[in-house]
This record gives sequence, structure tokens and C-alpha cells, in this order.
Amino acid sequence: MAFKILTAEVSHETNTFSVRQTDADAFRDRFFLLGDAALKERAHANTELAGVLDTGRTYGWDLRHVLSVSAGPSGFVKRSAFDWFAEPIIQQASEETFDGVLLCLHGAMVPDFCEDGEGELLRRLRSVIGVGVPIAITLDPHANVTREMCDLANIIVSFKTYPHIDMRETGRQAGHILQRTMAGEIRPGTVMARVPMLEEVNGGRTDIGPMIARLESARTYESRDDVFAVSINAGFASADIAQVGPTVLVTGQGDFAAHTTFAQTIANDIWVRRHESLNTFLSVADAANMARSFPSGKGPLIIADYADNPGAGAYGDSTYLLEALLAAGVDDAAFGPMVDSEAVKLLIKAEPGAPVTLALGGKTNPKFGGGPIDLVGELVSVWDGKFVGDGPMLGGLSASFGPCAVIRVQGIDILVVTLARQILDLQQFKAFGIDPVKKRVVALKSMQHFRAAFEPIAGDVIVCDSGALCTPSYGALPYRNVRRPIFPLDDFEG
Ligand SMILES: [Zn+2]
Repeated sequence: MAFKILTAEVSHETNTFSVRQTDADAFRDRFFLLGDAALKERAHANTELAGVLDTGRTYGWDLRHVLSVSAGPSGFVKRSAFDWFAEPIIQQASEETFDGVLLCLHGAMVPDFCEDGEGELLRRLRSVIGVGVPIAITLDPHANVTREMCDLANIIVSFKTYPHIDMRETGRQAGHILQRTMAGEIRPGTVMARVPMLEEVNGGRTDIGPMIARLESARTYESRDDVFAVSINAGFASADIAQVGPTVLVTGQGDFAAHTTFAQTIANDIWVRRHESLNTFLSVADAANMARSFPSGKGPLIIADYADNPGAGAYGDSTYLLEALLAAGVDDAAFGPMVDSEAVKLLIKAEPGAPVTLALGGKTNPKFGGGPIDLVGELVSVWDGKFVGDGPMLGGLSASFGPCAVIRVQGIDILVVTLARQILDLQQFKAFGIDPVKKRVVALKSMQHFRAAFEPIAGDVIVCDSGALCTPSYGALPYRNVRRPIFPLDDFEG
């Protein structure tokens, strides 16, 4: 007999410091897809849902996919938006009987009425399906995992890569554990260890550094008969909530004391190595100076503005780095994105080739990353903002910046967009007539994800801190709700 499974994808990473609250339109801007429409768009790419479907085919599941919904990282999720996407899931769960539930979540959602969006969704779900039906969830390792999430879900599996490139594999792993649970073969539960930190010192990056060894030992522990998944979450520091920070989870059965001890061993390593930052955060002036003298012909110098990463809820309109590049006379360069819907509205009225004068960027909150800068340049092109990724993260997925334009100022091609998005894929420049490979310098907004697509073409990579909303200088942010003491806000060294 085929098992009947309820699935849904719900993803938001909430930066509680952002002044931009997240309403239903913000979700529609990224994607809100019901049932078959979601399967059509998301089932054939590197997504958790695709992995779940792979597993479903293997075991012949009778699968009901309710919806897939995601908004770009931004401020508190409004209750009206939360209820709007939660309701169809709860409704479907209450109308039919299911053998299992599999939700693809992010894990760092904060609605405006509670600190734990995923916990609230699971609580509502449990209230209609009861405690007997197994729930599996997948998470992004930038989840702030709460005690409630571990209690309400039986199975938790996080991605094991940052840049995230194992979404589909994660979906398959969660699906496989759920299958064994429904078949009565195993009875998993999840234990957690945590440390008093806002996030793992390198945000959990897995290309280099101590996460590699931690994940290896996690995989070894996972090979035990009574362990099904070990997840190491870096946490998400831009959420001012009590249960912020790194967590280590073991989904298993049997000797939970041993599982907890193992999780604590990894968590302790995260704590002990809390000062071992792998990035050197340059000032924007130092980054611009390096760009000025960077030789052509060896691939572009990639400058990542870590602090203005829209992928962590920054506004994407910080002007300090662009200002520094212009002041240093950097040319043969690309810069993107600059999120400024007002500027786009003006630019798309002009003809390509026309001279343009405008105040660009810095309009959301100049305190983080600088105010608007007055520019004189040339309009190169205007676009509808749509692109299809071809890199390791976005390959085959379509997405949009909304209406956008490219302007050229002193030899810098600037991509000005309507919707904030992190740069994850070369197509986010190429689709708009900018070939990053051919530039001497490419300045982009991302912390770590850009590495998957841009390191292979880079002459060199540097990272800077523009002082925007996701600045690694956490002392600049008004934390009030995180548990104290916590690193690095409080002194643990004395
Ligand atoms: Zn993430």
C-alpha cells in the first residue's frame, strides 16, 4: 500500500533589524506556487522538493504538494502573510488522513507575533494531525533551531554545504528517513546542543575551514545504526530572538544520551574556535585601492560586499563601496545589484545611450551603508529583470530582479534593480548584458554563496564590510531579545 504524504515548501529568513516588513506581496514577488504549478517549476532543479519527489518515486508515495512559498530575506513576517500561506497547509492536513508530512523549511522565520515561525507552523500542524503522524523537515543551516522545532518534528535534516549546493540531496535524505519511519522500521527523535553565540564564526562556510572536519565526524556518526541524520547549523545572527545561534542536531533513536554527548562535542568545537574567522573584512577604501591596481587578463577581482547581502536581509542599496570605487577611479568594472526601485522608474523612461543624472541608492536607511550618491552617467540598457540560473545553486531555476537597468559611470557598469536579491549566479549579470568574465573588477553583494559560481572565473576574491545592515560588527546592531551573555556581544575572555 502506498503511503500518503503531505508536502509543502515554506521559506523565509527574517532579518529582524530590517525596517522592511514582509507581507504577502513580498512572497508573491519571490514565489507563491500552489500544487502542480509548484511541482512544474521546482521539481526538476536543485531544490529540496525535487529530492523529496525523487524519494517519493522510489517508494511509490501518494503525494499531495500543497504549496511552495518564499520571500527574499527581509523584516518580520506579518501575521496576515503567515496565516495566508499556513492556512492551505493546515486545511489540507485536516481534510485528509496522511501517513507522513514533509516540510521544506528555512528555519529562521520570525513573524511579528512570535519568535519562531517554523515552530508556530509545526504547532498548528500538530494540532490537526495529532502526535502519531511523523513529520520530517528540511532546514537551511542558517536556521535558528528552537527547542519547539525539535519537539514537534520527528526528523530534521539540514543542508551540509555553504554555498548551499546539496538541497536536492537533503530532500532525498529526509524522505528516506520518513519512509523508514512510516514503515515502522525506526522511531526517530531529535536532540540538540547549542552554544552561546550569535552564529558560527564563519557563518558555517564549508569550502574551507573547520566545518569540513565537523561534517566529516557528523557523517561518521550518521553511519551508526541508531542515527539517521546529524545537522550542524551555523545559525542566523540577524535575528534578535532568544533562541538565536548555532545548533547541532542528531535525529536518531536508542541511546539519546550518547547522541546528545556527540552533538555537544561538535558544538564545543564551534565555541572553542569562535575567534578563527577565515575572512579578512577590508574597508571599502582598501578594497577600492586593490581594485584600482588589479591586473587585467587573469580573471576579475571579485569584491564581495558582505554587509549589504540581500540574501541575509540587507537592503542591497548601500553606496559606500560604489562611492569608494568611483573615488579610486576604478574602471573596466561591474557592480551589482544596486537596489533602488525609484531610480529604476526614472531610468526605464530614458532611451539607451542617453546621459542620465540621478541620486542612486542609500534610500532605505543611510545609517547602514551610506546615503544616496549623485551620479552622472549613461544609460546602457533596460530589462524586465528575468533570468534563468545556470550555476550550481540556481541552475535551471527562473527568477527576477523586477524591472532593472544598467548604467555606466566612469567605466563601471552598474546593475540597478527593483527587487533585492543576492548574487548567486553569473546569469544575474550575463542576462543583462554584463559578462563578468570579461571585466577586470566585479563588485557584488553576497557573503559566501557567490563563491560557487564566481570563484571558478575569479582572478582573486576579496571581502569587504560596507557597514550595511549585515555588518559583521554586531555591536552596531540594537540587540534586545537574544539570551545573554552571548558571543561576540559579551565578554567571555576574562
Ligand atoms: Zn543559508
